[in-house]
Amino acid sequence: MKFHILTLFPEMIQSGLSESVIGRARENGSIVVETVNIRDFSLEKHRKVDDYPYGGGAGLLMQAQPVYDAWKSVREAAKKALRTVYMTPQGKPFCQSMAGELAKEEELIFLCGHYEGIDDRVLEEIVTDYVSIGDYVLTGGELAAMVMVDAIARLVPGVLHNEASAETESFHRYLLEYPQYSRPEIWHGKSVPEVLLRGDHKKTAEWRREKSLALTRERRPDLYERYLEQEALIAALTPGKRRNIHMMESLARGRGEILFTQGENALLYDGSCDLYLCSAREEACGRKMPALMNGAERALVSQKELADMLREALGFGRVREYKQACYTRKTPLRVRYKDIRPLSGEERLHAEKLQEGSGDCPEADMKTDALYGAYENDRLIGYGGWYADGSLGCLFVEKEFRGKGIGASLEAFCINRQLEAGFVPYGRVPAGNTAAMKLQERLGLYVSAESVWLLDAPDTARNK
Ligand code: SAM
Repeated sequence: MKFHILTLFPEMIQSGLSESVIGRARENGSIVVETVNIRDFSLEKHRKVDDYPYGGGAGLLMQAQPVYDAWKSVREAAKKALRTVYMTPQGKPFCQSMAGELAKEEELIFLCGHYEGIDDRVLEEIVTDYVSIGDYVLTGGELAAMVMVDAIARLVPGVLHNEASAETESFHRYLLEYPQYSRPEIWHGKSVPEVLLRGDHKKTAEWRREKSLALTRERRPDLYERYLEQEALIAALTPGKRRNIHMMESLARGRGEILFTQGENALLYDGSCDLYLCSAREEACGRKMPALMNGAERALVSQKELADMLREALGFGRVREYKQACYTRKTPLRVRYKDIRPLSGEERLHAEKLQEGSGDCPEADMKTDALYGAYENDRLIGYGGWYADGSLGCLFVEKEFRGKGIGASLEAFCINRQLEAGFVPYGRVPAGNTAAMKLQERLGLYVSAESVWLLDAPDTARNK
């Protein structure tokens, strides 16, 4: 992942992001941090970039032109639209779920203000996200950008060696992490809790969960309330587990944010793939949803009537019907094809391009979270994985290798990876694609009789 940081103090960023985990991630190429000195774009002979604000008031303001030209240099080199984050105390508060969402981007631009801020006219033209790191005022955006880069970078695959740690850390599913202890066993007369010394994994997990709940209740009652709301919704969805699997897994994996809930009726938002999950068995609940979905790009809807209503209200241009398939057993599957491994960064890009062009994958526009390749003599001949919402998919096998069970092996491999992570593997199959449904059943997945509808391609002029 590449971070472009527009700043007046590039050395501050370069030295602040050169140590420890982030420094190593830069060295091994998992992330790239590029600084652009806004002053280099000043047209003034003394390289001035600031001036007094019209209407008076304290301090100086960064001028529009150098900021715009610095931004344009990055935009033109990238040859594509990039999200541009302006660090400002007036922005949306930064949080862990936003870090997860931004970590899905390939490149990001951060704009750091200084002095009294930046001429608003240039912000209007280039900024896509206004973000604050807290309710206090810093002298400049550099520390704020470094905080964000650090939190985002550690979610980029390959940056943390222990990938599981992001899943057990504070804020995952609104809970704070349990207390931890290292050697010596007794320090200042205080012993490490006995349960952690016994090597009993089940008891350790129970103890950690209790501590995590107690700590969150005590220190962050606001988060604890949200945790309880989630638990209540999971309990309401459980009787209809097979049709609700996408919502239950979205909550269980700490992705879905609850926007509305009443019994089994729910509206969730998964920021990592900009996806709304909507289910309303009662019409009155459904009618409340469009107002909470302004600007929606994509929605997965559990009832046909609700899908029709949302399409009409929010101007979605495309509706596709799917059946959901889920693997409810805990036993791993046999993977017949042996040479399956994670795709390298370059192969991943190649695979994503193949998929876009193939027309085989109707959700090619949804970002992938993990991709594994099948190889024959080091040649990539197929791949599979899961999308950013966690659903299995993106299955592709080169034409000449089809009919040999490679697709089934890839899916089985991904199911096993998800089981290891403690998830219930699930995916979507286009309604009417009997071959795909048969494959799911052969692998032991249960295909739901009920459909879900994926709405996308919104008419953005209407959907605001
Ligand atoms: N006059 C601005 C205001 O009252 O909103 C504050 C300007 S501040 C002194 C200078 C720069 O620091 C801002 O342009 C912004 O880039 C950065 N900054 C300050 N506080 C921040 C915060 N809490 N989060 C993110 N960036 C911040």
